[in-house]
Amino acid sequence: MNFELNENQKMFQDMVRDFANQEIAPLAHQMDVEGDMPEELIDKMRQNGFFGLTFPEEHGGMGVDTLTYGLVIEQLSKASAGVSVMLTVHNSVGSYPVALFGSEEVKKRYLPRMAAGEIAAFCVTEPGAGSDAASLVTTATKDGDSYLLNGSKCFVTSGSRAAFYVVVARTPGTVGHKDTHAFIVERDTSGLSVAKKEDKMGLRASDTVTIDFEDVRVPAGNLLGAEGEGLRVALTALDAGRIGIAFQALGIGQACLEESIKYAKVREQFGKPISAQPTIRNMIADMGTSLEAARMLSYHACWLKDNDRPFTKEAAMAKVTATEAAWKAADTAVQIHGGYGFCKEYAVERYYRDVRVTRIYEGTSEIQRLVIARKLLAEY
Ligand SMILES: Cc1cc2nc3c(=O)[nH]c(=O)nc-3n(C[C@H](O)[C@H](O)[C@H](O)COP(=O)(O)OP(=O)(O)OC[C@H]3O[C@@H](n4cnc5c(N)ncnc54)[C@H](O)[C@@H]3O)c2cc1C
Repeated sequence: MNFELNENQKMFQDMVRDFANQEIAPLAHQMDVEGDMPEELIDKMRQNGFFGLTFPEEHGGMGVDTLTYGLVIEQLSKASAGVSVMLTVHNSVGSYPVALFGSEEVKKRYLPRMAAGEIAAFCVTEPGAGSDAASLVTTATKDGDSYLLNGSKCFVTSGSRAAFYVVVARTPGTVGHKDTHAFIVERDTSGLSVAKKEDKMGLRASDTVTIDFEDVRVPAGNLLGAEGEGLRVALTALDAGRIGIAFQALGIGQACLEESIKYAKVREQFGKPISAQPTIRNMIADMGTSLEAARMLSYHACWLKDNDRPFTKEAAMAKVTATEAAWKAADTAVQIHGGYGFCKEYAVERYYRDVRVTRIYEGTSEIQRLVIARKLLAEY
């Protein structure tokens, strides 16, 4: 076993750490308060190639391995999880279905534009279809050489900024997994509109919106995968997406640990720094240990994916472990900061809110456990 990062991975980690410290961290509080992200920051991330990280080089991307991608997401998440969610959705579920299941023509048409920074979004969730994605009701009606999409998708990350949407819809009158179809849909298509923007607890820099489809005509050539395979395409993309969310949680958790150590060393009570109190030291030890355990699971999931091994179970294990470790780290960080941790002047207050959703999106913790149990019960 080799736990050493290679030169390329270290280079990306250092480069993104510097970028996040210089360009994102100073804006994080303001973005959180305003519930928005400056376009100039997105442009800088475009210039640095962040939107093409996972894309094949032949399509204008950087073609980095999964661990490098994870390290990038971790560094970005330490500065702002609102920024990192846009990039992780774009580099995984928003584009991966195109890279993996699109025709050669579709790949040539869309991947270079996505790699250059035209944002990709993922539309599966509906008001009545969350964890049970197979209960989606948005329809795709075949009409000659195209499909007409009708329905509504909610909780779409980057939905108001996106240029492209991966959308899963079904043949009218059908139920279940079968007869679902995945498409890549362009923003400017007539009948597609951005509706309600969510006013969220955390990740406030990122926009989360409803997208309405009213007779949206999509060429049959924009199908991703075969007809009837829509949910398979989406679930395959989510397996990879979950690794990104594990690293997002690791980044937030690591930021909680570092802020807590910094604070505990300078905050004095009873005549000495609180870091001298055994209880506080235990808290710090537990935070660090849980995050490190989650990091190892996350690295392992990357290794499996990069070596073309099955990784569904391990990605779910990484996500559930990392998001729960980070959630506990955020709670402990607020506790270590005492009353100040409850105030917006301290970043841990934001981490505490931002981390919450990592146990919900791209499959809740309960759904991850269903996935893990199903795999384990089949294995033994
Ligand atoms: C900020 C944010 C961004 C998001 N971005 C996207 C996006 O870009 N694209 C997209 O398509 N979706 C997105 N989502 C949606 C997200 O993936 C869903 O919220 C999530 O899958 C859960 O669905 P739900 O909210 O409908 O909850 P529900 O499915 O209604 O679940 C409610 C509760 O019931 C539990 N539950 C449900 N079924 C079971 C079961 N069988 N066994 C045990 N417990 C169960 C759940 O774990 C949960 O605790 C986003 C959500 C948020 C909040």
